[in-house]
Amino acid sequence: MYPEIKKYTEEFNVTLVAVSKTKSVADILTLYDRGQRIFGENKVQELDEKYQQLPKDIHWHLIGHLQKNKVKYIASFVSMIQSADSLELLLVINKEAEKHQRIIPVLLQFHITRETSKFGLDLDKAKDLIDHLQNSPLKNILICGVMGMASLSDEQELIRIEFKRLKEIYDTLKNEYFRNDETFREISMGMSGDYKLAIAEGSTMVRIGSAVFGGR
Ligand SMILES: *Cc1c(COP(=O)(O)O)cnc(C)c1O
Repeated sequence: MYPEIKKYTEEFNVTLVAVSKTKSVADILTLYDRGQRIFGENKVQELDEKYQQLPKDIHWHLIGHLQKNKVKYIASFVSMIQSADSLELLLVINKEAEKHQRIIPVLLQFHITRETSKFGLDLDKAKDLIDHLQNSPLKNILICGVMGMASLSDEQELIRIEFKRLKEIYDTLKNEYFRNDETFREISMGMSGDYKLAIAEGSTMVRIGSAVFGGR
């Protein structure tokens, strides 16, 4: 499935993050040899172990929940943290990035389903967070856009509404805060089962696991 998905995302100018959680180093190398350079992991320890063992020109994205006390394990090498969902976490990422004299790109993760969840911002919380950052900027992070996960459901219309919601959130923030900021441009949405729908609704970055690696 990898070649078709690669072709599809290239055609739409969408970044493909190959989600390699639970996959072996050998599996990752197979995609690496076919040209894939961006991989996503959802656990810090697994990400760190794979980073140690794999070629250093891989761009690693953290896509899962990140605890503040674990930022230090990935701050020296991670290419993007897609799961930033609180000011406290951004402060820690900034501090750890500074230690390594790096700037870490992050996405703000939003909660877009109707199910309750501990993780993810809503629009009001995000505005408070960005207001705060505008008064006291963090020099070692770069806010590059938004990320969200749709419901795990077969209901296409439900998923479409959730993707539209994230696109609306992105547009609102872009207009109110990032109008002249070229780096705020990513909408990370879409996984194996819904990436075509996500792209149709404005995704710029898809995170695809099982469909590129075969079943998990
Ligand atoms: C696992 C995971 C994905 C990929 O899921 P697939 O259905 O295997 O494509 C995408 N995003 C996040 C946050 C994930 O945890």
